[in-house]
Amino acid sequence: MSQLKTIPAVDTTPTGRALPFLAGDGPREHTATKTVNVMLGPVGIGPLTSGKPTDLWATEDAAPTYDFEAIFDPKQVSRAAAEEHLRAQLAARGLHVDRFLDENAPCQVYPGWCVETGDHIDHGSQEFLIRSYREIAEPLVFAGIVHLSDSQPYVSLQNESLSPAQAREKAQQLRELADAMDAMAAKAEAAKARPMHGR
Ligand SMILES: [Zn+2]
Repeated sequence: MSQLKTIPAVDTTPTGRALPFLAGDGPREHTATKTVNVMLGPVGIGPLTSGKPTDLWATEDAAPTYDFEAIFDPKQVSRAAAEEHLRAQLAARGLHVDRFLDENAPCQVYPGWCVETGDHIDHGSQEFLIRSYREIAEPLVFAGIVHLSDSQPYVSLQNESLSPAQAREKAQQLRELADAMDAMAAKAEAAKARPMHGR
């Protein structure tokens, strides 16, 4: 997906009129709003609601910014044509697009581990997980790295937030657990090998 960014707002006094290309309870028109965010992605992320090759709708009206989502059908219109169409639609409302940001672009802050894409403030890694042999939803163990915009980076273990020092301590304990499990497996094998095992 892509995000369109425009020059800063200069006046966001609502007029009470709905934006003409928005159905339902979308944002009301502002007199001279100049900022708009549009998330643009191909069909597949969501259905086209109008049946046209390009569709645009409002998601938020947090003055001084309008937030929109837009999708396009790549079979009917190229991405460049979709962007041009949206640019023209918004320009007709006095909303001038500066540039497009690719929402599929990899994280610029933590390119080594963050799996979030596009414009984002909360960073997260893929989870390292050990699955159960049983058909249960939650894995046996799962851990990852998280950096939320309002917190320090931390290691998440089973949904518990660990400082780096705590994470190292738990990692050491997990290593000891792994060694102990190897020893248990060996004992179990030896026990099975005994004649009349279990008695
Ligand atoms: Zn990130």
